[in-house]
Amino acid sequence: MKPKVNPETCIGCGTCESLCPNVFKVEDDGKAHVLDANYDEYKECIDQSIEACATQAITKE
Ligand code: SF4
Repeated sequence: MKPKVNPETCIGCGTCESLCPNVFKVEDDGKAHVLDANYDEYKECIDQSIEACATQAITKE
């Protein structure tokens, strides 16, 4: 399972990065990117981020 951010809908608000900084980072393009991480370790904050994202830009695949 790996989280994915849809750049079309991400507004770069930084909520996911605040909740789960080891997995999400808002880069210079103003969009959140998924970092190389052990996603199993961060399941909880990934799910929190999915729920908290105002534009539902984060999915899991
Ligand atoms: S919470 Fe959603 S909209 Fe905000 S930076 Fe993360 S992916 Fe983008």
